[in-house]
Amino acid sequence: MKIPKEIVSVLKKEKVFLIATHISPDGDALGSALALSSALESAGKEVYVYNKDSVPPFYRFLPGYKKVISSLKRTLSKDPVLILLDCNSPDRAALEDYSFRKSIVIDHHETENDFGDIRWVVPAVAATGLMVFYLLKAIGAALNGDIARNLYTAIAVDTGTFRYSNTSAEVLKAGAELIEAGADPAAIAECLFERWEKNRFELLVMTLNNLEIKNDVAMMHITKKMFEKTDTTAEDTENFSNLPRTIRSVKISALFRELGNGAWKASLRSKGNVNVAKIAELFGGGGHKNAAGFRIEGSLNAAKRKLLLAAGKTGTDR
Ligand code: 5GP
Ligand code: MN
Repeated sequence: MKIPKEIVSVLKKEKVFLIATHISPDGDALGSALALSSALESAGKEVYVYNKDSVPPFYRFLPGYKKVISSLKRTLSKDPVLILLDCNSPDRAALEDYSFRKSIVIDHHETENDFGDIRWVVPAVAATGLMVFYLLKAIGAALNGDIARNLYTAIAVDTGTFRYSNTSAEVLKAGAELIEAGADPAAIAECLFERWEKNRFELLVMTLNNLEIKNDVAMMHITKKMFEKTDTTAEDTENFSNLPRTIRSVKISALFRELGNGAWKASLRSKGNVNVAKIAELFGGGGHKNAAGFRIEGSLNAAKRKLLLAAGKTGTDR
């Protein structure tokens, strides 16, 4: 993979960095940010890792997760270079109200924007963690156990633990190297998939119970009441939208989560060539071909109807 030379030289030359990732961070966002921060720190740099949202409890096994700050109060006065990871527009990271002397964007999302002085956005790459893996090689950073654990998790999460169509020989080679450097696949898989709190599982059961399927589009929803009843929060819903894809006939799976004030967050998943990023873009959102999202105002029924209409127009049969 070709690494932009400008990124390597900025990482070598500059001293203070702010690494930011998208709101509702996932394993790729967090793992990439923590790995890059730890490599830069080893090179003597001052590094801050920012996310507007706190690290979900089930990602608190990632080495260095305590570094993640959700306030920029003390950081901005240091005039850091911004490194935006796993998203490519400042609003996705809740940074739209700030400006930076220099900004680098490292991302693999299909939905693009023109933000950033140096943009390295490659939708064909399986995970931002894989880009960081190559970047660390380019700057001559050693892969220690903590970096390996973070990057392995990042790549595992975005490839559906090496099941999705973005799983290639290249991905598995990187995975193998990360295992050699100290990542333990079984331990990481256990942290990712077998450590749910009971109430999270209760929320899942409740959500699966309202599943409806129309025109090969599976739809589920989570109301604020359901969160209250199970004492859970939005971060507990990660991966819920994947599950209806298990059904052979389902081509798109959507989860609507109530945000309050009549707004909903839709989380979309699809199979094969059905492009949900294109559907999400129709609503002002975006993402990847097989995983995307958007925000929509109005009633739940209207939101579902609009999605079905958009899915019909974009075509679920390609
Ligand atoms: P999730 O459904 O897991 O929240 O998101 C799936 C993918 O779509 C992620 O890669 C996420 O970054 C992206 N995504 C989700 N919501 C939005 C959105 O509102 N705008 C954009 N541009 N991307 C989104
Ligand atoms: Mn990603």
